[in-house]
Amino acid sequence: MAMAEPRNEQLEGDVPTVQAVGYRRYHIDTAPTPDLADLPHRFLVEVDRVELLKLLVKETWEYWGDWDVVAARPCVYGVFSGPIGGFAPRPEHCVGCLRCTIQHPEAVTIRHNPEWKAWGDTYLSPKLVETILSEATLGAVPVKGQGYRGRFGGPGWDRIWTDMSEIVRPTRDGIHGREFISTVVDIGSRPMHLATNGDGERPRCLQLPLPILFDSPPESAQTVVMARLLAHAAEELETLAFLPLPLVREAGAASPAVVPQLRASELAALQPAPRMVEILDDAPAALALTDAIVCERLPFEPGWREALLASIAAGVRVFHLVADYHGRGDGRFVRDLVMEAHALLVEKGLRDMVTLIGSGGIAAAEHVPKAIICGFDAVALDTPLLAALQAQPKGSVTDAATARFRLPESLNVEWGVQRLKNLAAAWRDQLLEIMGAMGLREVRRLRGELGRAMFQRDLEREAFGGIDGYD
Ligand code: SF4
Repeated sequence: MAMAEPRNEQLEGDVPTVQAVGYRRYHIDTAPTPDLADLPHRFLVEVDRVELLKLLVKETWEYWGDWDVVAARPCVYGVFSGPIGGFAPRPEHCVGCLRCTIQHPEAVTIRHNPEWKAWGDTYLSPKLVETILSEATLGAVPVKGQGYRGRFGGPGWDRIWTDMSEIVRPTRDGIHGREFISTVVDIGSRPMHLATNGDGERPRCLQLPLPILFDSPPESAQTVVMARLLAHAAEELETLAFLPLPLVREAGAASPAVVPQLRASELAALQPAPRMVEILDDAPAALALTDAIVCERLPFEPGWREALLASIAAGVRVFHLVADYHGRGDGRFVRDLVMEAHALLVEKGLRDMVTLIGSGGIAAAEHVPKAIICGFDAVALDTPLLAALQAQPKGSVTDAATARFRLPESLNVEWGVQRLKNLAAAWRDQLLEIMGAMGLREVRRLRGELGRAMFQRDLEREAFGGIDGYD
């Protein structure tokens, strides 16, 4: 019998409280959705035709009559060995193995294609963009069949390894459906005690089946089509999309899945009240002005700790902590910032009362579980959404105010919604894989579980501490 997870639905006009009304298994419908335009190929294959002709003459002399050998070139991918013995290379198939140029340096040169590099920046690299495009096209976990070829450590999230030791924990099989793993996450307030005299804080909570929300696009990508697309995709995925209030109005995109971003003073004109609002200035002041769940957008800037504690004391329970697109804030990387925020709230006995949503620096599927392990309840994606929609960055894109993206001319809502559904399905499957290997039954238990992660810094200290030269 198929297992199912509880679904909480809000009745129309009702206060958005937890209310289980049935059981249904969460599923994302994927469908192949090809790119609107091909990405430039990664490598430029330059053939010196004069040198190749000399090679051809030499080989013809040496292997006269053995024409297969004469025309053969050292490239198993059919690039340099392509039609007419390499005179018309097919760079779109080149993987950059360099075998050709090692064997015939005089005849062929392989270079990185600058046009391909322009599809990413120093953080969201073209390689990550390629992976995202594959996920958005197929809705499946990318499998290359070449083993892991990346670094075993590095900056950012690469300093963390997830502990998926099967020896000490039974694995679960979430991705193939034999065992159920829940990705439901609570967004809202969870009072720490029950008050029977009616004065206590009421639990006000939304349950989302996915710990992945959509952050508002940068100003250069705030178009009507984009707003409708994000709202529609969030609705189909049963998650939430943050969008600026003027854009919501202009696009007619208001829906239960849309969280308008506005100032507290604008709340009075917001009718009917949505399920949740994101306040850009004075979130405590907004509490008395709306029935919606109030989320405070809090950039990781100097003073964020004090602002966080003050807003919690004033009654705010949902925070959207925002680093820049490269995951930087207050001089540090978001990994360290969220660990500090989580530890601060644990120390004050406040952590279970509040929800922390994180944005900035989440650029690959494995960053989601790592961010949750470090302390976020859920993440709100920014640049990966644009990459999935084939929006091309113009130069380095570090923050929402200055980032410039060029959206595809033929971008349309139907195509974009399916691309984001595919991306969400692929990322959810990878989250399930990680939780399955950890033996975890639900993503809520992953939050702040630092014991599920290994940190490069700690392991290096264990291995090399005390050795001269290591500090
Ligand atoms: S680098 Fe490798 S794949 Fe590319 S042309 Fe040379 S041999 Fe072929």
